[in-house]
Parts: sequence; structure tokens; C-alpha cells
Amino acid sequence: MEGLVPCAPWSPTVSITLRVLEVYRVTHVRCPQLAIQPFVKSLCDMHGVPYKPYLCQQFSIAYDLYLDIRRQTDQLVMECLGRDSMWRLKHNCPACMYKFEGEEKLIFEMLTTMDGNDSLKRVLRRTKTANTDEDGEPTLGPSNERLDSRDASDGYFITREKVEEWAKTRLADALPMDVLMWGVFDETGIFLALCRHGFVLLLTDMLRSGELAKYPLAIVNELLTAFGLNLGAGYDVGCNFEATVANSELGNLAREMNMRCLVGAFHGHAHNRLCQLKFLATYVEGLGLEDLEGCERFFSRSNGLAKSCRYASCFHRQQEITTYIKHFDSFETYANLAKFLCANYQQALTILRTEPALLGWMEREGVESFEEFKEWLQEEKDYLLGLKNAPKEKVESLEMEYVQKLINLSTSETRYGVLAAEARRARSDDAAYAPGVGKAELARRHGKEKMERDLESVQELERKLDIVERWTTTSPRWLETVVQVKKRKYQLALDALELLIVERIFELTKMNQSQTGYKLRKHIAKALQARSKAVRNAIDRYNNAAILLNPPMPQLSWEQVVEYAFLADFDILRDTGAEVQSRPWTRPAYRLALDKYFRLQRAKEEIRRLNIEIRRVVTWIHDEDRLLRRKGRELRRSQGKSAEQAEADLNLAVQVRLYRERRGRFDDAHMRRFRVLAKTAGFTGSISPGRAVEVVQGIDEMEVDNEGNETGSESEEGVAGEGDDEDEGDDTRDTEVSRIRYRLSVLAVDGAREQGDEV
Ligand SMILES: [Zn+2]
Ligand SMILES: [Zn+2]
Repeated sequence: MEGLVPCAPWSPTVSITLRVLEVYRVTHVRCPQLAIQPFVKSLCDMHGVPYKPYLCQQFSIAYDLYLDIRRQTDQLVMECLGRDSMWRLKHNCPACMYKFEGEEKLIFEMLTTMDGNDSLKRVLRRTKTANTDEDGEPTLGPSNERLDSRDASDGYFITREKVEEWAKTRLADALPMDVLMWGVFDETGIFLALCRHGFVLLLTDMLRSGELAKYPLAIVNELLTAFGLNLGAGYDVGCNFEATVANSELGNLAREMNMRCLVGAFHGHAHNRLCQLKFLATYVEGLGLEDLEGCERFFSRSNGLAKSCRYASCFHRQQEITTYIKHFDSFETYANLAKFLCANYQQALTILRTEPALLGWMEREGVESFEEFKEWLQEEKDYLLGLKNAPKEKVESLEMEYVQKLINLSTSETRYGVLAAEARRARSDDAAYAPGVGKAELARRHGKEKMERDLESVQELERKLDIVERWTTTSPRWLETVVQVKKRKYQLALDALELLIVERIFELTKMNQSQTGYKLRKHIAKALQARSKAVRNAIDRYNNAAILLNPPMPQLSWEQVVEYAFLADFDILRDTGAEVQSRPWTRPAYRLALDKYFRLQRAKEEIRRLNIEIRRVVTWIHDEDRLLRRKGRELRRSQGKSAEQAEADLNLAVQVRLYRERRGRFDDAHMRRFRVLAKTAGFTGSISPGRAVEVVQGIDEMEVDNEGNETGSESEEGVAGEGDDEDEGDDTRDTEVSRIRYRLSVLAVDGAREQGDEV
């Protein structure tokens, strides 16, 4: 019964080979849309049997068992390596976490990003009641899910209890009793934290309870505990989240650890300029070229899992997610790590090459030093703060109201004049035939009443404003107020326009189309143009109001608005005083130069960070390979062990090799990329391994021998190749499930003989 996974604990009649299960697992994580049912159907096709729905059930049982065996095997390997439950979180990304001695200190020790997404939600299974709703459909009763104590969180998920510690309202108050009693919830999505390279740090389920702040708070708490000082945490509403953190119980710890909240580069563009000056990626010192939008990228790929999570049980959904993430971390994120680092390096070098052009521009424009750019930014910040705190002209003042009432009065006076004349004509003897006398008289009387009402409102305002002499269209205060009225109309038109743009941007973000960069901007511009009649009307209203001002504000075209859509510049239009337009930072060419300057600074920081990160990865590749090979050798050695122990160790050695190869298979390719990069002009780092801080501090209890600077992957190949590939078939072995874990090696090597009824 070797290499077979049964579908029932006792006297199984159907079992499935490990190989088939492994094919399903790998195919499914690579293409999550391929679920169990189509897979089982294709197996049936191949075996020439008709498909039966219960086969899916049986396959699912065997698959659960198989994944459980894999989890337990991993656990054994980790135990044997002395790696505890926190080890994954602290070592998942070598570029972020595997520090070496003598590293340069960075402003942000580590950059993380987090976000929530509802594509991986789950629908709670509930009973139908006897009652029906108005459409005649049966209404839903309480949940009828069974409690499932199995746990597939695998160290990735933060438990609900931990999340609830950060809730303002206890879940108990927010959710109905029966839901709590059964401990089953409808998960509305996941909240996720990644490092800047895309490795999954932690995630948690979002539940139907409205409050959103607790998820990021719980995650930040865990991250601070694990990673400590100088963490940068990106979030699309990072600006608001900063205040949330400061006001929570986390506030003190966050301040102590010098944690900073940041805003993702794309989302930042939808925030107002003042927020951008503080949070936008380009302006944040120490951020490098990181856009902090990794979550968007992750979610756009994990969306394929949605279908298999939607109607799964609590446990199965979690198992789906962790199986996917585990594979993704190693076979996508780790596989592309060197590519990521090298591409960033090249990008930063390209930006650095723009420095001479910027210097040339500065000379032409008479900008003396880079310091001036910083001053402009500060000036802009001060200016906007002033604007924000200044009394808003948007509020209608009494004077404005008075002017409006006077205009109303003058209109109704003129109208009354006309009506009265008509009525006189109707009554006069000249009219030979006058059936309209009554009507004209009625209109005259109504006109008079309207005039009297308008007069009353004017008088009331004159009392309030202490106006002794009624204003006329030539009195200075009248003229002054009319300017204010125009300004107000202009501000309102601008507000309306800005709001429309913001709404569209959020809409588009929600549609999961966000990836930063030029292409996206073009994409948004197109989408906006196609469907935004409202925006066009708002532009017209804005232009009409702008031209009435003195001096007139610039007219906007559709194309400009789309550029402004990245909102930074809306705030400058906000000020109608002429003096702001004369400041250098309001002129487009200067703003361009300003952005170029800050981008240059970020590129320099990126290179500093990459020099560290690349060396960390090289050190990791070197150390991990040696450590795991050494452990393998130790396990294969039989002296001084009982026969039983020796055999168990031999099996474990195979698993340690598989564990090493999981990520190690990419290391040669990584090193090749690094070597090419190292030859690039402008490279200032080192690609020889350093001495890892953990090894020096002896956290890793096995010391690593350091002779030779190249990675050891070639030197020891001969030793590793041999002893591993043995397959000791032994007929007397019993078929206990617990033993199967050791037999996984069969998978890699020989393939089980097909026995029993296979699906
Ligand atoms: Zn990382
Ligand atoms: Zn903001």
C-alpha cells in the first residue's frame, strides 16, 4: 500500500496515489481556477470510467490527508533544524531579514505593505427555514456548518483572538449570538502584509463586523514584535492610519520602535497635495524607489483562488490560502528575487544618469543648489497649511447674501414695472376689447408682492449688517463683494470637479486595475474620458467661473484635468490670490524639476538599500546551502545510532534534501544574475557572502564554515547526490497513516506501483 492515500480510515476501497495528489496540488496552486471537480473528471476520462459526484468527495478527503502529511513532514524537518514556529516569519525574505555584520544603517530597516481584499471571501452555509420572503424563496436560518477543529493556518494567519484585542467594539457585541456560539463566521476577505519583495509576512481573515482598523493594528503589532526598530508600513490610507496607530494602545510601542506609516505610490496620487507632501513615496526620505503597492499585485494573482474559497468550509478555505501562499512564496517570489533586485538596481542607475540633465537645467534657470528644491517643498507645505487653516471663502457671508438679495430686488422691480405698464394698458380706454384686464391685474399684484418680499429681505439684512445707505452697483463695498461671490462660485466649481475626479479614481482602483506607472495613467485617462460627461460639464462650469475672476484663473482642458487627476495640482488652483502664481514651485517646469530631483534622491537610496539586500541574499544562499547539506550528512551517518533511529534519520535526510531544493534550485540562477550585475558600470555593492548576524550571535546553533567565497553548491554536489536516492521498499512495513509521511520520498524518486482501486 505504498504511495497510496486512502479515502477512509478503515477498510478503504478507494485510494489515490501520492503522485496524482502531488500533480493536483502543484497544478492547482499554479492555476487555482482548476478545482477538484474538473481534475477528478479528467482522471475518470483517462481511466475509462464514468464520472460520479462522490468521487470528488473521496478525492477531497485524500487530498486533505495528503496536505496534512506534507504539513507534518515540514514540521519534522523544521524541528530537526531547530527552527521554531516564529522562524518562518523571521526568515521568509532573506533580502529583508538575513542581516550580516557591518551593514550600513538605513532609515527604514524594513519596508512592508498591507491591504485588505474581499475576493477571498466565504459564504456561510446556513439552514433554510420554513418561512419564505416576499419572492417566495425560503429565508435563511442559522449556520448549519459543523465545527471543524483542524487548523491549516500554518503560522501565516493571525488568530481571531489576537485580532479582536484591537477591536473597539467586541465582536460579541457586533455579531449575533448563534454565530459566536458555533464559532463559524462568514469571512469577508483577507487582510495581508507583505515585505517589499512580495514575501507574505502575515495575514488575517476579515469578518463581517464593520470595523476595519483592527486588522492593520493587529498586523502592525505582530510585525513590531517580530522585527523591532524602524519599520515602514505602507497602506493605502496610511495617512489616516498613522493617527489611528498613535491613538491606539499601540501608539507607545510604535513611537518607541520608530515605526512610520506610509502611503502606496499609486494610492498617494488620489490624496490631496498636503497629504502627499508628507506621505507620497517620492518625498519620503529613505523609501528608495519602492512603490509599496505589492498587495495590489498579489491580489490580482490570488483572485483565481476566489472560486474555490467561496463555498468551502472554514478549514478548507484556510488550507487553500496557505497552500497557495506557501507555494507562491518559494516558487514565484523567491524564484524572482534576484530578478527583482537586479531590475531595481538597473532602474536606479538609469535615473542616476539623468542627474547631468537636471544640473544643466538648474544652471540655465539660475537654481543655485539642491537645497532650493527642499525649500520649495517646505514653502509649498507651509502655503497649503495656511490655506487649509484660512477661513474658507466657500462659506457664504452675509454681505454676499445682501448683494444677492439686492440683485433679486432690482430684478423684481424691473419686472414689476413691466407688469404694471401692461395692466395700465389693459385698463386704458385705448383698448377696444379687453378680456385680459383681470389676468393682467392679477400678475401686477403678484409682481408687487414679490417686490415687497424682496424688499423685506433686503431691509432685514441691512438691519443685521448696519447698512445705513443702500448699496448700489457702483458703491465700493458692492464691487468688493461681487468679487467674493465670483471667487466662491469658482471654488465651488473647482470642488465639484475635484470630487468627480476622486470618485472616478477610487472606482477604478476598486476594479483592481491598479499598477503604477505610465500605462495605467493612460488607461485611467481613457476610461475617464469615455464615461465622464459629468466631468466635462464640471470643467465647463469651472472655466466659466474662472474667466470671471480678476485676474482670471487658467482655463482647463480635458487633457490637463486628467494630468491634474493625480490631484497634486488641484490645491494650487484653489488659491485665487495672484501672488501664489509667481512662486517658482507653481510653474510646471519647476515642478517637473522638483520631482526629478526627489526621484534622483530616491534612486540613490535605492542603491544603498540594494547593496545591502543583495549581499544579504548572497550570504543567505551560502549559509543555508551549507547548513542544510551538513545536516543531511549528519542524518545519513549511522554510527552510534540504533537501527530504528538510523532508518528514521535516513528518511528525514531525504526530506531535508527536498526542503533544501525547494528554494535552493533557484540559487544558481540568482548568483548568475548577481554576477552579471556586479560587472555593470555603476555597481557599488559586493556579491561575496558576509558573516550573518545570527550565525555570529549563535542563534543558529550550527556554525557555518566559511572557507571559500563562492556558494558551495558546486563543491559538494557529489556527496549529496548519492545517498539520497535510495528507495528501500520493505514489504513488512505496516500501513499506518503516520508512516506515510516518510514515504513522500517515493514521489521524487520512483513513483509508487499502482495498486488497489485508483480513482
Ligand atoms: Zn523582503
Ligand atoms: Zn492622504
